[in-house]
Amino acid sequence: MEKKAFLSREKAEEIAAKFPTPFHIYDEEGIRKNAERVKEAFSWNRGFKEYFAVKATPNPFILKLLKECGCGVDCSSMAELMMSRGSGFSGEEIMFSSNDTPAEEFAYARKLGAFINFDDLTLIDYYEKQVGDFPETMCCRFNPGGHFRIANKIMDNPGDAKYGFTKEQLFEGFRILKDRGVKHFGLHAFLASNTVSNDYYPLLSGQLFALARELKEELGVHIRFVNLSGGIGVPYKPEDEENDIFRIAEGVKEQYDAILKSTGMDDVEIYTEMGRFMLAPYGALITRAIHEKHIYKEYIGVDACAADLMRPAMYSAYHHITVLGKENNSADNIYDVTGSLCENNDKFAIDRKLPKIETGDLLFIHDTGAHGYSMGYNYNGRLRSAEVLLHPDGSFELIRRAENMHDYFATFDCFDVLKDMEYVQE
Ligand SMILES: *Cc1c(COP(=O)(O)O)cnc(C)c1O
Repeated sequence: MEKKAFLSREKAEEIAAKFPTPFHIYDEEGIRKNAERVKEAFSWNRGFKEYFAVKATPNPFILKLLKECGCGVDCSSMAELMMSRGSGFSGEEIMFSSNDTPAEEFAYARKLGAFINFDDLTLIDYYEKQVGDFPETMCCRFNPGGHFRIANKIMDNPGDAKYGFTKEQLFEGFRILKDRGVKHFGLHAFLASNTVSNDYYPLLSGQLFALARELKEELGVHIRFVNLSGGIGVPYKPEDEENDIFRIAEGVKEQYDAILKSTGMDDVEIYTEMGRFMLAPYGALITRAIHEKHIYKEYIGVDACAADLMRPAMYSAYHHITVLGKENNSADNIYDVTGSLCENNDKFAIDRKLPKIETGDLLFIHDTGAHGYSMGYNYNGRLRSAEVLLHPDGSFELIRRAENMHDYFATFDCFDVLKDMEYVQE
């Protein structure tokens, strides 16, 4: 897929004049249009709802925007639950899909009226002892073990993943929960990540629908929803093909009609918990080239670092880079694009063909809208960047300010940062 920046150099400079680089920027129009497509694609299912995975982009402005598009939220921690409540979500608009969960987080989710998705059989007992009564609807997460394949290609390795119930445990869990008075059930699984394939959800839904049918037939329980979770990928690389959400939804519908509808289970609601697909392409990291270095390789040093975007350092992930204003120049230079961390893996690109970069150029690092800012950290005392929202009319808004030294030093009680700040600014 052709990779094009959603921002011109002029606009980026206009924003940078107000909010210095580096910053993450999100494209409101792109987010809305994509969310509308998702909703339309699954509109054949009456109860369909996308529960946006908050961990991908935990920002109240983004969450509110998605709420306007009809989305709920998927949380897995106290802070994510709090942010969701603060952004206007309540009750069944919240899915709590966590693991290794502390009791107080279950209690808070229960208080909010959220759907609770158990990650393990032992949690039934734990919850009962530490939290109390079960809500009318409960969800459990399934892990089939083994490998997950699409057309014989191994996509991921659930047998090695810490999540979910085995199949046997699932039957036992549903039986116990039914005895405890639970009336409606949800079934959840997340078996492969960043799938650039229109077959993932259809294959997964086939497995889950068949299991839902078995559970219903054997235990006489009412299956209220099947939660396909996240895992729908985006084309990070120019050679990747874009997923087609309409084809994906159509594939799920075929399974639904064949497995559920034919047995009268045609009230089962489909939920998703996409993070990456909802946001990744509609966010970018804007950073300025501040140094060039010529040793055994050619380096461009930028003012962002892995603390702003960890995926390249952590997973060797590819993020496309556009040099703003040089979109049409030929890419005849080979660079490593680096941040300042004292870690040699702090590189946004390695041996990347790019147009000639001058100090002062703005770089648009693509697809940082999900799992970008949110994976940020403070190594080397680097501060987290600002987040900016670009509105459809070209206006823009600061939706999270950049961290400053006060934030960084706020957790020390023992020395006075303010004095040091004054000294720096003298
Ligand atoms: C991370 C996560 C998601 C979102 O995954 P994406 O790959 O961003 O779609 C959804 N559900 C759960 C439980 C997760 O942990």
